[in-house]
Amino acid sequence: MIQYGKHNIIETDIEAVCDVLRNHHLTQGAKGLEFEEALCKYTGAAHAVTVNSGTSALHIACLALNIGEKDLVWTVPNSFVASANCALYCGAEIDFVDIDVDSRNIDTQALQAKLYQAKQRGRLPKAVILVHFAGLSCEMKLISEILKPFNIAIIEDASHALGASFENEPVGNCKYSDCCIFSFHPVKSITTAEGGALMTNNEQIAAVARSFAKHGITRDVSSFSQFIGEPWEYEQQNLGFNYRLSDIQAALGISQLHRLNEFIQQRKKLAERYQKLLVDLPLKLPAFYAHIQSAWHIYVVELQHHNKKQVFNMMRERGIALNVHYIPIHLQPYYRQLGFNAGDFPIAEQYYKMALTLPLYPDLSESEQDYVVASLKEVLV
Ligand SMILES: *Cc1c(COP(=O)(O)O)cnc(C)c1O
Repeated sequence: MIQYGKHNIIETDIEAVCDVLRNHHLTQGAKGLEFEEALCKYTGAAHAVTVNSGTSALHIACLALNIGEKDLVWTVPNSFVASANCALYCGAEIDFVDIDVDSRNIDTQALQAKLYQAKQRGRLPKAVILVHFAGLSCEMKLISEILKPFNIAIIEDASHALGASFENEPVGNCKYSDCCIFSFHPVKSITTAEGGALMTNNEQIAAVARSFAKHGITRDVSSFSQFIGEPWEYEQQNLGFNYRLSDIQAALGISQLHRLNEFIQQRKKLAERYQKLLVDLPLKLPAFYAHIQSAWHIYVVELQHHNKKQVFNMMRERGIALNVHYIPIHLQPYYRQLGFNAGDFPIAEQYYKMALTLPLYPDLSESEQDYVVASLKEVLV
């Protein structure tokens, strides 16, 4: 079976992990800090807080922005459920903005229209969670200009987009956002098996997020509110969680980060190759933009008139495991029970009916890719 995505582990990664097992602390040692510094250096952000998943990073992002009950958060329906769940964890209400047919990212006109209505009704969101779908950055400059007058916070869910750039600057530098999160799940740009990170230029956000990832505990005497600073003392000041990344995982992350640019180059090369090889098929292909370089987390095509289930199954019979990104979040039973319905976000729903994710990962060989293309040609007669 050819999978839609796959990690890339080589001997130096294994060595890095074994080195921790043999010689270092397994958690809360030097590797965690080293990984955070490497992420800051790569993205240009001032602060990184590494955690045990992208989902945890989204949760502490919401907590650090003080999102709670009575607050409203917006995201897009075309994402993994974690992009919306994080707001619900904090007791906030979630709502969605539909996507753009070409970029498959948030529709900036729909965002503007919804903001206008929200303003009229007197209920603006406290934050918007932007998803850089498939590794393609949202229109960050425009969106920050739209949201700034309303004082609405921006969280970038860049789970797909480590290694991408917007106007020649790395995604994760938080130039146009309050914070940005990454996931290091095995299908993402780099992996720590499970893991994630929050990037920010705001010292306060970094400190609060870090605290929530570590039980709400601080050991910094200068920030104690009650204890006097005996050598054994720490203070719990918030109800936090244990979202720590282990040093075993951090070592893998450091090692993987060395090859990130190589991974992205390889993904880009394959994506451009798909673009050429598929041009005559009855498919809508991903859009390319001069000012945005995608990390090419996934390569999604949209059928024009074929039956998705049939194509999916016929490709599977040929040993190719396609995938679907995403079932619109608001159509999940949990979200329907919150009051969402089919028809609420028609662009995301129509896109979902036709979207299929083709295999794309750094190790995919050109002959495997040729086989995927040849199979599609057979199936789409
Ligand atoms: C993978 C992913 C997440 C969650 O990341 P985990 O590390 O699996 O918790 C969140 N949002 C999006 C868009 C993702 O693709």
